Order: sequence, then C-alpha cells, then structure tokens
Amino acid sequence: MGGLTAALVLRDLGCEVDVFERSTAELEGRGAGIALHPITVRYFEQHRPPDLAGVVVELPWLRFLDRGGAVRYEERMNYRVSSWNTLYRNLLAAFDPGRYHLGCEMVGLDQDPDRATVRFAGGGTAAADLVVCADGISSRARAILQPRAKLRYAGYVAWRGVVPEWELTRSTAERLGDAITYHLTDRGHILLYPIPGRAGETAPGRRLQSFVWYRNYAEGGELEDLLTDRTGARRGSSVPPGWLRGEHAAWAREYAAAHFPPPAAEVVAGTRDPFVQVVFDAAVDRMAFGRICLIGDGAVSVRPHAAAGTAKACADAWALGAALRKAEGDAVAALEAWEGPQLELGHALLERARWMGDGSQFRRDWTPGDPRLRFGLYEPGDAVFPSGDAQGGWDRAEREPVRRPEAEECGPRR
Ligand SMILES: Cc1cc2nc3c(=O)[nH]c(=O)nc-3n(C[C@H](O)[C@H](O)[C@H](O)COP(=O)(O)OP(=O)(O)OC[C@H]3O[C@@H](n4cnc5c(N)ncnc54)[C@H](O)[C@@H]3O)c2cc1C
Repeated sequence: MGGLTAALVLRDLGCEVDVFERSTAELEGRGAGIALHPITVRYFEQHRPPDLAGVVVELPWLRFLDRGGAVRYEERMNYRVSSWNTLYRNLLAAFDPGRYHLGCEMVGLDQDPDRATVRFAGGGTAAADLVVCADGISSRARAILQPRAKLRYAGYVAWRGVVPEWELTRSTAERLGDAITYHLTDRGHILLYPIPGRAGETAPGRRLQSFVWYRNYAEGGELEDLLTDRTGARRGSSVPPGWLRGEHAAWAREYAAAHFPPPAAEVVAGTRDPFVQVVFDAAVDRMAFGRICLIGDGAVSVRPHAAAGTAKACADAWALGAALRKAEGDAVAALEAWEGPQLELGHALLERARWMGDGSQFRRDWTPGDPRLRFGLYEPGDAVFPSGDAQGGWDRAEREPVRRPEAEECGPRR
C-alpha cells in the first residue's frame, strides 16, 4: 500500500518511478479487511472523485455484543472499510504496468553522493535518485539500515478470515451488516465487519463478512505450534490462508462456538481458510538515509487496534511527495525535511496502539464507548467520517503544479 501510493504520488509529481515487488505474482488476499482513513483513499478521491462505489463499504454503527448476542452497547459511528485486495487492485490499475516489476526481491542497498542502488536476488541492480523502501513488517531494508530495530512480539496473534455474506444465515448477515461489531472475551477480543467482495462488490448480501480475533499465546511452545504450518515449516510473522494445520482451524471453530456470541461463532465456523498474523511492535529511530528512506511498516510497525497502519504508510508517501515538491526535486534535502514529522507520527501511533492492545489483551480494561478506542491515525476518532454524505470528509488537499524534478531512467533490471 505504501509503496504503490508513493509510486503514484511521485509519478504524478513528474518523477520516473519503478516499483520492484518481491512476489512473483500479483498479490492476492493479503490482510482481508482494512478500515479506511481519509488519507488511505486520497488517491482515489483526487483521481476518480464520485466513484468510490467499488472501494468502500460504509458502516454507520459501532456495536458491542455480549456472549449471548444481545447488544451491550451501540453508538452511531461512521466508519468506512475496504479490503486489502480492493485497495491494491485499484492502486495498481492507476500505475504503469510496464514499471511494476514482479519477482524482484531487494537484498542490498548502496549509495554514493549522486545515486542510490538497489541490489536484487539473482544479481540485478537498479539505480535511482531516490529509493523508497516500503517492504512491510519484516522489512529487509530496516534490517540493513537499522539492524538494532527488531520486531517485538506483542504477546498475541490475530486470527482472521472472511465468509461470503450469502453463506451466512440471514439473521447473522443482518446483525453484522451495518457495523463494526466487537465482543470482549476473557483472553482478548474479536471484531467483525463486512468488506467488499472479491470483485469489489459493496452491495449488502454480495460482500464478505470479515473477522479479526486477537488471542494471547505464550511465547515458546504454544506459539511455535500455531506457527508451524501444514508442511511442518515454521512461519515468521503470519500463516497465510490455506497453510494453517487442520487441528488449529478446527480448534478455532470449537472455541468460537463455546465462547463467542452466535453471529461471531457462525462467521468463524463458516470461514474456509482462516489465517493468522502475529502482532508485533517495531520502530526505527531514523527513516531517512541520504537518498534512501523507509516508509510504512518498514519503518514503524504498529499493532492493528487503531486500524491505521495502511493510513500511516499512505501518510508517509503523501508527505514524501510534498517534501520532494518543496525541495524542488532534491531527494536528499526532501528526506531530511520529511523524516522528523513522520517519525513523530509513527512513534505516537505505536504508543497509542500498544496502549490499546495491552488494554484489551492484558489489563482487560476496555470500556465499550471509550472514545480513546476509536480508530484514528493522528488521534483517536479521526477515521470517523461525517455521516449522511458519501463524499464528505474525504481529504481535500490541493494539488499544485510542480516543477518536474530531473528524472533519470532506473538502472537495468534483472
Ligand atoms: C490483523 C491486522 C489488521 C490490520 N488492519 C488494518 C486496518 O484496518 N487499517 C489499516 O490502515 N491498517 C491495518 N493493518 C495494517 C496494515 O496491514 C499494514 O500497516 C500495511 O499493510 C503496511 O503497508 P506497507 O506498504 O508498509 O507494507 P505492506 O502492505 O506489507 O507491503 C510490503 C510489500 O513489500 C514487498 N516486499 C517485502 N520484502 C521485499 C523485498 N525484500 N523486496 C521487494 N519487495 C518486498 C511485499 O511483498 C509487499 O508487497 C492491519 C494489520 C494487521 C496485522
């Protein structure tokens, strides 16, 4: 998300941009649902203004259910959500296909005063005025540039999955269809919300119902076992759909049936391929290194409770565009000016999300309706959109004409 957003923003400034993606195929099914912030959809808002229909599901309610399924708390709260697939597909469609290079795994970075060079597995290189490393939570670039910034296990994982709404009972689809729905359990919490269908369908009944269930796992045996996939391989930060061992998926369904409100249990039971993402904290104390920078999770990776990781990655990208424009294309000067505010944003979000997660998983002091628990990037609640106006609240930042920075072709690809 951060990489494609940066690519589009910088391309629109006049830079010649290439994206190098490790995966050998276009990405699919990553991360399921994403709660949106104005900045996450800023690119769409500015380029296809009235047509967000295939991107966004609007959810006017925040709701907490008790174990029996009764409403324990509810409040009007206009969140907007999408899916990782939908956002990725739409961002990718806006980029130049010939400049999106699959199967290019970055393994090294070098620079001299004039150029930065990326080295790829297999021996190829690419050189550029500016290298933006947006390589996610397990960032290779972070390991190279800030080797002391390790991932720190938060003490719990997120079980996730989706079920087509049309496979749910009508009462469950309706109960969950207009809200972000929470249930607090003895060892964590689950939240559920509908997201666009696989082809971007946003009409009720044609969407997917998603869940994210945070559960504590002791480090060592219990976690090791969960992360050992069906081939016996030990996974690092996630076990993707289709790779969990059958006994774990069966256990999750049984646990949900015994402990969750009926609609939540039905969603977990109906999920064919649940998957697991380990929750980590990671933070760097620098994001700019001459002509090279880290953005998004590659720089600061935050727990998901503020639902703002993608938004932060996009904010890093947009701020980079603004800094580059202000520095009239001077990459080094732009990165120097850009770094401080983005570090501050990342560290503040990291602390807030850590406080939220510890509250639900360990202190167990979450109170339904506490405004500090609202989704937000800069502050709690800034992901709540004004209700009743489908376009209201989208970011309206002006785009100014820019001086085209001197662009040189990226170096040869492998
Ligand atoms: C359970 C959970 C729920 C979440 N919910 C939300 C939410 O509701 N809202 C929200 O805003 N955020 C949410 N997030 C966070 C969000 O998923 C991440 O913050 C976001 O994806 C980070 O974007 P990114 O561009 O930094 O990295 P990523 O999206 O992870 O992208 C990294 C890219 O780099 C590629 N790559 C990796 N290594 C290399 C390499 N060496 N060479 C080349 N390419 C490489 C990867 O293949 C990938 O395409 C959630 C996260 C989790 C775990």
